[in-house]
Amino acid sequence: MFEKILIANRGEIALRIQRACREMGIRTVAVHSEADADAKYVKLADESVCIGPAVSALSYLNVPAIISAAELTDAEAIHPGYGFLSENADFAERIESSGFVFIGPRPETIRLMGDKVSAKAAMRAANVPCVPGSDGALPDDPEAIRQMAQATGYPIIIKASGGGGGRGMRVVHSEGALLNAVAMTQAEAQSAFGNPTVYMERYLQTPRHIEIQVLADQHGHAVHLGERDCSMQRRHQKILEEAPAPGLDRALRDAIGERCAEACRQIGYRGAGTFEFLYENGEFFFIEMNTRVQVEHPVTELITGIDIVQQQIRIAAGEPLPFTQQDIIFRGHAIECRINAEHPYTFMPSPGRISAYHAPGGPGIRVDSHVYQNYVIPPYYDSMIGKLLAHGATREQAIARMRTALLEIVVEGVNTNILLHQDLMNDQNVLQGGTSIHYLEQKLALGGGN
Ligand code: ADP
Repeated sequence: MFEKILIANRGEIALRIQRACREMGIRTVAVHSEADADAKYVKLADESVCIGPAVSALSYLNVPAIISAAELTDAEAIHPGYGFLSENADFAERIESSGFVFIGPRPETIRLMGDKVSAKAAMRAANVPCVPGSDGALPDDPEAIRQMAQATGYPIIIKASGGGGGRGMRVVHSEGALLNAVAMTQAEAQSAFGNPTVYMERYLQTPRHIEIQVLADQHGHAVHLGERDCSMQRRHQKILEEAPAPGLDRALRDAIGERCAEACRQIGYRGAGTFEFLYENGEFFFIEMNTRVQVEHPVTELITGIDIVQQQIRIAAGEPLPFTQQDIIFRGHAIECRINAEHPYTFMPSPGRISAYHAPGGPGIRVDSHVYQNYVIPPYYDSMIGKLLAHGATREQAIARMRTALLEIVVEGVNTNILLHQDLMNDQNVLQGGTSIHYLEQKLALGGGN
């Protein structure tokens, strides 16, 4: 096992990884920007190295500075967390060629899955069901594009092959708008992702977003840890996740989970990963794979009792998975609310000083957050300040516990979306479960509150 790991991230996930390491007796190196120098989680690490100024491009995305920090501190492995460089194949390659271990998949796998067109091709080859569409990059010929759209059936969605973070997508309802939408998405994709390639999918009208968590070791073993329902989204960004997915048939879940595990074996996947699907009328359609730990991974940890971050580290160190599929047992129900420093209904970010803070607790409650009273949320990074989780024997109990925790939690001095989460935990449709990816935006359009 490693003796020292460098954590190439910030905020709650940096603390989460640090906790996993400490429990395993592994020393940690925190790298941080000038803006995060005083954060308590940085002080809690065994060592810390400042890697640049506040702006991410010069610090958390600064590959040479991160590699130098690893050399300076004699770290053996680097954990990338999520976001930042976590799905950057060049970063993984540089780490390995510099003699360190990248805690994640092989660079070739990151590259294959990071490009959505090649990812879908690999998944089709592994018999994972995909959203019907262009089955590859769109051609230049306008007539060919028109015919593809006809064959796919309107409405369709044009998506950037290099896209991420909910950006680089455009829905097209009729042929008149098609070519313009393609041109605009290509231009956007070029400027945002440096890759103009776009592809086409059928636009599903009322799907749910259901994803499968997998773990695969370096010895050809792969398992799935069940699903998470992440349908509560605004602007294609998740705000609440739960497991199991309400109303999803267990046999269907096991079947799609096993397809994902098998796909991992086929592509030689290594580490933790997530297969994202849209689910409609009892059918799963693959949209993309994330080759890293997800924000919402604790939901799965709560119902399986498996520490996903520790498994990532063990797999990177070459250990075989300590369990088989039969050993994985799902217990109860878990929900996660992402607590963001933003206006609850306009979503305007609200950085600044947290003047009062009180974390909730009690049976079944977990809080993953790096903040504390008088912590200053910097304006440079994302607005998530923590994740509040509730686990219960049943979905009803998990919701009741979440409702209680949302009444206990205090975050003052900045706007937060706590009110929105309180509202959702009392919403009849949420209580019933199984709402589509459009539910939240429709609800907000109908007038915020209730
Ligand atoms: P990103 O990598 O930017 O997150 P995804 O491909 O994962 O992009 O899609 C993000 C979200 O966009 C999905 O969760 C869903 O809400 C919506 N979406 C993507 N593809 C489709 C589709 N074919 N039909 C309907 N909605 C879609």
